[in-house]
Amino acid sequence: QIRTRFAPSPTGFIHLGNIRSALYPWAFARANQGVFILRIEDTDVERSSQEAVDVILEGMRWLGLDHDEGPYYQMQRMDRYKEVLAQMLEQGLAYRCYMSQAELEALRERQMAAKQKPRYDGTWRPEPGKSLPPVPEGVQPVLRFRNPVGGSVVWDDKVKGRIEISNDELDDLVIARPDGTPTYNFCVVVDDIDMAITHVIRGDDHVNNTPRQINIFRALGKEPPVYAHLPTVLNEAGEKMSKRHGAKPVTQYREEGYLADAVVNYLARLGWSHGDDEIFSRQQLIEWFNLDHLGKSAGQFDETKLRWVNAQHLKMTADDVLAGLVAEQLAKRGLRVPADGALAQQCALFKDRCSTTIELADWVSMYFAPVAPSAEDLAAHVTDAVKPALQTLADKLASVAWDKAAIQQTIKESIAAHGLKMPQLAIPVRVLVCGRAQTPSIDAVLGLFDRKVVIERLRSV
Ligand code: GLU
Repeated sequence: QIRTRFAPSPTGFIHLGNIRSALYPWAFARANQGVFILRIEDTDVERSSQEAVDVILEGMRWLGLDHDEGPYYQMQRMDRYKEVLAQMLEQGLAYRCYMSQAELEALRERQMAAKQKPRYDGTWRPEPGKSLPPVPEGVQPVLRFRNPVGGSVVWDDKVKGRIEISNDELDDLVIARPDGTPTYNFCVVVDDIDMAITHVIRGDDHVNNTPRQINIFRALGKEPPVYAHLPTVLNEAGEKMSKRHGAKPVTQYREEGYLADAVVNYLARLGWSHGDDEIFSRQQLIEWFNLDHLGKSAGQFDETKLRWVNAQHLKMTADDVLAGLVAEQLAKRGLRVPADGALAQQCALFKDRCSTTIELADWVSMYFAPVAPSAEDLAAHVTDAVKPALQTLADKLASVAWDKAAIQQTIKESIAAHGLKMPQLAIPVRVLVCGRAQTPSIDAVLGLFDRKVVIERLRSV
């Protein structure tokens, strides 16, 4: 069974670039009836925060990236890490190193001066027949992993292809600090083993960690998972997407009127492809997703494209679902929507013109709040010449059947009675009732109003 995970560090508000690293393992698990696990890597206590965890959980919930196990928190697994550390020490897979910080620096300087790559020199690494220096008083040792000597680490990365790193490049990694706390690369391996992860899909900023992690896996007698290292997501300026460079928290996009399915669609396409398909549903993504079509080059975020994708999804979304989302936007403006189903019809009428639920809320708010036509529109369209026709229309509308056909008939009669042409009456009606000079077909727009409101607005001049 396929088991994937998303392992964010809650050290800043998760943005779209980060959450793409949740989307792919989620989609891969769902595509293969696998298990998707959420693991919060919160060992950097100084920089981790509960708010950041909340944005991760909230963002994933919003986007529908549901996890089957977890969230696990690394800080709650310390006992387990210490148990494995003790076991590695006992089995000779790790050793105590008493080299002080000052000694390490001196070593580093000597190596730099000799134009060598700085690396730990193995002073404290036990070898058969080698005697170790005397243990200094009062120094708390670190634990180092006994990295294999010679040979190389090879893996077949699902994005980058075959990667081979010589063990000579890797020195004996510190896996526990002097205070006994485990280090990052070590915890990841213990977790990936305990959680039986089969596929690690993560950002390529971790690619340098992978050979070290693979060596620890093997030392512990386990085969490493399959790795897929995703290229970075760049922002619109071409820099690595980051909070520092103005990336917004994921949840902000919900506030700005984006649909979860559209964001999922957009992010999926930003590093993976299914032929030329640009617009697809969540269900299609799950059917199609695989690791063979992950892109090799960095994806660049493009808000205009995201808006376009969102517009397509607005059209695909059921009207009652849309109405629920638009009602939330209206509520933020203090507008309460009666639960009579009218909002769904109103959304249906305007959604083709909109890119976000905010724009849709801008349109349908004419049904729930007074409108404020601009002075220019009033002057240009609501002229003295048409005012009598507006009053005729208001009078007639008071007693007709309240549907599109009857409204259209009534407008025609009012035009005929005053010798006007259609736009000469339809535009001032729009200005007064809708607050704007352009709308979809006026009979359809009026038909979704409360009759009283239309008549009142027509009589307001
Ligand atoms: N915690 C790491 C990060 O947020 C991810 C580690 C991993 O996926 O192995 O970048």
